[in-house]
Amino acid sequence: MIQTKPPKLKVCKVCECNFLAPPGLLRAKVCGPVCAGKIGRAQRIKAEKARLVREKRETREKLSILKPRGYWLARAKKAIQQFRRLEELAKGRGCMSCGRSQEEVTGTDSWKPGGLWDGGHFLSKGARPELALEPLNIWLQCKSCNGGSGKYARKGYTVNQSFEANLIAQEGAELVEWLKGPHEAKHYETDEIKSIEATYTAKTKELKARQAHA
Ligand SMILES: [Zn+2]
Ligand SMILES: [Zn+2]
Repeated sequence: MIQTKPPKLKVCKVCECNFLAPPGLLRAKVCGPVCAGKIGRAQRIKAEKARLVREKRETREKLSILKPRGYWLARAKKAIQQFRRLEELAKGRGCMSCGRSQEEVTGTDSWKPGGLWDGGHFLSKGARPELALEPLNIWLQCKSCNGGSGKYARKGYTVNQSFEANLIAQEGAELVEWLKGPHEAKHYETDEIKSIEATYTAKTKELKARQAHA
């Protein structure tokens, strides 16, 4: 004797009514053609959205292949610089050149577009292209010092000399000697440069998330 289970009521995925699936459609998830039509429409909209996202990504990829290596290098440099600036600010550090603290700079300097702080290079990018992607060549500098104004520089010192003296005092002479070189000329492939940018963008995101939860 065949035992037939009593028919079970199902809940429609769309209208949430209870319905009895007809014998030929035991796996039906909707109560009838009206709700089936609604699901079909939602699926079509979803597919269309996915297609647009895909198209946009493909266009972006096509364009990015056309970008010269220098474009990616500039982006990677910017990402490292931004991370170093935020990292040093988070550590509570002040300006590596004039030595002013964050409170002092906030208290005296007028607001400047882009904020009061920069990730400043110890050795300039132009002079040391091989250090272009070296995070330890970048330290916190107030906008005045990074702009080279020397307004707050120690008496008798240039902005760069103060940078060096403070960097030695804080990080040690060894680092400064190492930065001054010599360094091997580095040639980064575009993919490498892109992955460096991604690494630092992620570090920045992580740092900001940590601060938001602090
Ligand atoms: Zn329904
Ligand atoms: Zn300064």
